[in-house]
Amino acid sequence: MKKLLTVLCAGALLLPSVLPAAAVDRSAPVRDSVAVEKINFQNPAFLRGMDVSSVISLEDAGVTFRDERGEEQDLFKILADNGVNAVRVRIWHDPYDSEGHGYGGGNSDLDKAKQIGRRAAAYGMKLLADFHYSDFWADPAKQKEPKAWAGLSAAQKAEVIYTYTNDSLKELRAAGADLCMVQIGNEITSGVAGCMDNADRAALLSAASRAVRDFDSEVMIACHFTDPQKTDTIKWFADYLHQYGVDYDVFATSYYPSWHGSLSNLTHVLSYAAETYGKYAMVAETSYPYTLEDSDGHANTVSFWNNNTGDDMRWDFSVQGQADAVRAVADAVNRVPDGRGLGVFYWEGAWITVGDITGKTGSAWTRQYNANRAKWEQYGCGWASSYAAEYDPDDAGQYCGGSAVDNQAFFDPKGQALPSLHVFKTVLTGTVTNSVLSGDVNGDGRVDVNDATQLQRFLAELIPLADERRCAADVDQNGSLTADDVTVLLRYLAEFETDFPIGAVI
Ligand code: CA
Repeated sequence: MKKLLTVLCAGALLLPSVLPAAAVDRSAPVRDSVAVEKINFQNPAFLRGMDVSSVISLEDAGVTFRDERGEEQDLFKILADNGVNAVRVRIWHDPYDSEGHGYGGGNSDLDKAKQIGRRAAAYGMKLLADFHYSDFWADPAKQKEPKAWAGLSAAQKAEVIYTYTNDSLKELRAAGADLCMVQIGNEITSGVAGCMDNADRAALLSAASRAVRDFDSEVMIACHFTDPQKTDTIKWFADYLHQYGVDYDVFATSYYPSWHGSLSNLTHVLSYAAETYGKYAMVAETSYPYTLEDSDGHANTVSFWNNNTGDDMRWDFSVQGQADAVRAVADAVNRVPDGRGLGVFYWEGAWITVGDITGKTGSAWTRQYNANRAKWEQYGCGWASSYAAEYDPDDAGQYCGGSAVDNQAFFDPKGQALPSLHVFKTVLTGTVTNSVLSGDVNGDGRVDVNDATQLQRFLAELIPLADERRCAADVDQNGSLTADDVTVLLRYLAEFETDFPIGAVI
């Protein structure tokens, strides 16, 4: 033991002085069942985000979430533990009818956003506040102003949008949210808050932008469009914002692989906004199914019959395929030059069923469906309740119901986390899928002092190490190789107790 401790002390003193700064990649792939290739992120602040706007309504309806071991856990802790570093939340102005019934879609009002922001911050995650400037879904087909703003001129809407945005941000921060970014409008390709004219829309965006700047100049402002496959159109939006002098930081788009073209085109259009106008670029929404099965009785956006082929649906409908898709979208954003690719937010990655219909048929299916429907109505945990018909008669009024994306969540119908969720962390390191003997740096099947020597030689840049050997060498399992791993390994060899599974097959 004395000899080992001498080595330990020598190593601790020697290594820092001989290491050139940041010369080699010391990340260590982690052992995982889901294969993920590492991304070398140009921007160290890259946002690996998730939208979970419906979570409060799901919890109200009795849904619980569990980690992979099956233990019930706060959803936000599960996300943070798996590498999600930011949460997105949509904010509707007043998603309730005159009798107080929620429209559904999470009844996503400011109060819900405050709860979500506070819980995200409790686990170290930042918040992207996504203002729809509507009482319900805003997207290319719908940009209806809030009921309270009906009849206002564009100039009057610009005044109220300023006050509403600024006041709401103050409330979010007071509630404990760690705001990093604000979306002024959602998928605003056709307009915003009922203003479809280009000049009016720009006036509203500028007023909303001033509200964010006046709140806190450090908080980034995102303008969010969709249909990036319409290459010329989405590039025109970057030109448009410039032409009208809208002050913003991040050019964002949705990217759904069924509809939105190739990933190389995504990189192209984001790069255009980044390079031409000096903006950051981001994917504000994406998702991919891990299965084509439905689990709540409401038809899914991507199913056996719908959208399962499309522009770029090349990945398997499996846990691995879901992780592959997320990794590929993040990679496409990271290819935007000069570190201006800022992040990817996965859309509604926890919008699971409120009652599992899997395997049920006949009257058992009907009973479960009716029970689910009652919850969608009562708690607003489906995409729309029947109460939304007064505000959105053509869509919600006709097709109200449950989750259309339960098969794109990172949780199974019982609420248990899927291993694909690891991708938010493992894109930083990569994975190895074969078993390795932890501590066996040189790959000879044993763990001994030669492994510590081998690791020191790697850290001194005298030798390379293959992925599996770097994985085995990361004995403290933090995703990077440092002198700490040598120390932990030597302590293990000196028979000190360790918290890590050194000498075990992982
Ligand atoms: Ca469904």
